[in-house]
Amino acid sequence: MQTHFTPEQRSRPSIQVADEVLRKCVHCGFCTATCPTFRLTGDELESPRGRITLIQNLLESEATPTAETVANLDHCLSCLACESTCPSGVSYRRLIDQGRELVEDKYRRPLADRLTRSLLAWLLPRPTWFRRALKTGAIGKPLLRVIGKFLPQANAMANMMPAQLPDTSDAVKPGFHAAQGEELMHVALVTGCVQNVLGPQIDAAAIRVLTRHGCSVTVPEPSTTGCCGALPHHLGKAAQARMMARENMTVWRKLLENGNQTRPIDSFLMTASGCASMLKDYPHLLPEEKNIGGIDIRINDISVILNELFTKESPVITTKRSLPETMAWQAPCSLQHGMQEKIAPLSVLRACGFEVREPRDAYLCCGSAGTYNLLQPEFADQLGEDKRDKLRATGADIVVSANIGCISQLSTGDSSGTSLRVIHLAEAVDWATGGPKPASLR
Ligand code: SF4
Ligand code: SF4
Repeated sequence: MQTHFTPEQRSRPSIQVADEVLRKCVHCGFCTATCPTFRLTGDELESPRGRITLIQNLLESEATPTAETVANLDHCLSCLACESTCPSGVSYRRLIDQGRELVEDKYRRPLADRLTRSLLAWLLPRPTWFRRALKTGAIGKPLLRVIGKFLPQANAMANMMPAQLPDTSDAVKPGFHAAQGEELMHVALVTGCVQNVLGPQIDAAAIRVLTRHGCSVTVPEPSTTGCCGALPHHLGKAAQARMMARENMTVWRKLLENGNQTRPIDSFLMTASGCASMLKDYPHLLPEEKNIGGIDIRINDISVILNELFTKESPVITTKRSLPETMAWQAPCSLQHGMQEKIAPLSVLRACGFEVREPRDAYLCCGSAGTYNLLQPEFADQLGEDKRDKLRATGADIVVSANIGCISQLSTGDSSGTSLRVIHLAEAVDWATGGPKPASLR
């Protein structure tokens, strides 16, 4: 595709990135076939190709975006199914990130929208305050329902409030967890923010299963908030996301320099794939910092690490207990498109003896997408319902996923009034190899 940037625009690093991506796009439209919002609307401007044109126009003209253009960009889930489909290797994420930043800088949203987005960007990355807010749910829910008559986002928030918060005693503490038997690997497990409140048992299960299979785990001290920056990044609040990334890197650098480890850290991981995908993107978020600010490390999803362990000298530890025979694998977009990891989760679950089924159109997003299900409930509800129907159609006993956002979205009841039993891959593997039955299935 031809671009028309001025020499001054071309001198900016961000425009150089955009220009390179835009020139790769040949406007073939293959990506439209797998775009969830194009499938829902049939509207070119709700497709990757349409959004690429909108973003190109905004970057070239430097004009203030119209409300319609902002809506088209806001409707994008950043699911990146388009990247997986594109035959020309267009890195759509580099464009939508710039599009969101530009909207944040230039467009004045309506007051209710501004307040909602600022509240989410402040509250969600702060586990203590987020927990407090959810605890007031009994009082807050009816109020949100009333507000929801005028503001659909308030209703969406009420729907996503869990009936009961998990026990905080499950939350893992910073420290070192030694591998059982021979130490084959050493990872740093970054615990994050929202998952710490909604699913603290996931990291506890991850530590059990990793140490059981010969992998030591260091849990670093959290940075100020503990957030990887993905939540503000999704909202176009780039400065906040960069600040969080820098804070994390400072903590990790200290850990790598001063850690009293038995062996160096082989890899960093976060068990929420949306967050792990964000960590992988730090070099792009902070391009001025080479190799993550001096930290030249691997960042992996837990399924990749387990797959590596299982094929090494540490075979899967099998138990004789009865487990559900079938499970449906719900691949988070951040894992299958963001990190391009499609094989490891299936291999790991199958190595544990589970019969794993995949839903039809597995590449489609469930509608969670960071804060998307709170901000764009109309699209998110349709996508969630569609995904739940397809998972039910597999006939599997339970659903396994790898991202707290997808787990919350799919566990929420839909118009049929029923919800799915969804657990994290770490809980499934822990259970299969000697750990407790996941709390949500008890
Ligand atoms: S598939 Fe790739 S090259 Fe074709 S329109 Fe979409 S982004 Fe552009
Ligand atoms: S990221 Fe997802 S929703 Fe956005 S344009 Fe690409 S396929 Fe469509």
